[in-house]
Amino acid sequence: MIATTMKILIVEDESKTGDYLKQGLSEAGFIVDLCRDGLDGLQLALSESYDLLILDVMLPGLDGWQLLQALRKAGKDIPVIFLTARDQVGDRVKGLELGADDYLIKPFSFAELLARVRTLLRRGKTTELSVLTAADLEMNILKRKVTRSGERIDLTAKEFILLELLLRRQGEVLPRSLIASQVWDMNFDSDTNVIEVAVRRLRAKVDEGFSPRLIRTVRGMGYVLDVPDAD
Ligand code: CA
Repeated sequence: MIATTMKILIVEDESKTGDYLKQGLSEAGFIVDLCRDGLDGLQLALSESYDLLILDVMLPGLDGWQLLQALRKAGKDIPVIFLTARDQVGDRVKGLELGADDYLIKPFSFAELLARVRTLLRRGKTTELSVLTAADLEMNILKRKVTRSGERIDLTAKEFILLELLLRRQGEVLPRSLIASQVWDMNFDSDTNVIEVAVRRLRAKVDEGFSPRLIRTVRGMGYVLDVPDAD
């Protein structure tokens, strides 16, 4: 058996981020090409065979959307992860609609990126990522629709992102610091109870009147969404 090394193309114009990603992924055992311009990125993606693309949105030459569109038009079905800014909620939807497979909100941890990369490479092309579920709770990312037991739940934009984070990391206790940086552009030492308030509101919408309760506080640690074992 010959182990094949996976090839990844990063298109990112911020040199620090690009270099950091390239180094990290190379050390993780991937063959990595880095491109700082959208047009060059598209040419490389069309001429070489990559297993995965990591695309920044704002790029010189061609932006991430245009690159992805051109790629899909050319029939290239490579999995794509977008790197998007926190305040561009609508962008994530746009990216998924255009055929991206996943996205990460900047700033993200390298461990997080690596986990997503490995998941995508394992699964290959994934469309099911756009629908997340836990028990009878269902979140459709593309339609921005959340239901529980078939009942529609209306969420604010922040609540949507928060619930999505909890669902994607189901079973994992998420520290408040991580939630603060992923959902709000905040440091964990910010003197604010905004996270507690948001989680309480989200829980009222998602869990009240339903069973089982999915969102739990883990005292001193953070929050977790999981489906409790039946007794
Ligand atoms: Ca950029």
